[in-house]
Amino acid sequence: MIHILGNIERWTCEYRKCDAKCCTPGIQLTIADIKRIAALGYSLDDFLEFDDAAQAFRIKGRDDRCFFLGEKLECTIREDSPLVCRLLPFKITEVSYSDEPIMRLIPVVDCPGEGKGKKMDRKKIEKDASILLHENQKLIRDLKKKGKKGVIQEL
Ligand code: SF4
Repeated sequence: MIHILGNIERWTCEYRKCDAKCCTPGIQLTIADIKRIAALGYSLDDFLEFDDAAQAFRIKGRDDRCFFLGEKLECTIREDSPLVCRLLPFKITEVSYSDEPIMRLIPVVDCPGEGKGKKMDRKKIEKDASILLHENQKLIRDLKKKGKKGVIQEL
């Protein structure tokens, strides 16, 4: 179940105004995200790291920013960006994988794009968050069964 806390009517990404503050190192990736990005020609060693504590795949940092942030603060893989980035202007505040998985999203604080641009499509955010929740649940199961090496070998 997805809970979107807070209401944003309109939004556009004003990444130059906030210095692309959402584009930090360590963005969490699903297996589908990893495959989509690798298909662009990046080798896994370029951009992928594994967070042992969280048991999650993440995007590496470069100069303390996301590996895919360009010189003009643009996302260089925008059309193929990870699901987590597609949830903007919301970010994940809580996830629970109990009997019924739950993800809660809250608006990014002080986002300069809030109130501007296109009308927000909450249904799309809910759909992407739901895919993310279920892909992560499957990844947790696969990591338990096959281990990190086994999962990486299947990429
Ligand atoms: S993948 Fe793109 S949108 Fe997502 S954090 Fe990195 S640069 Fe920003």
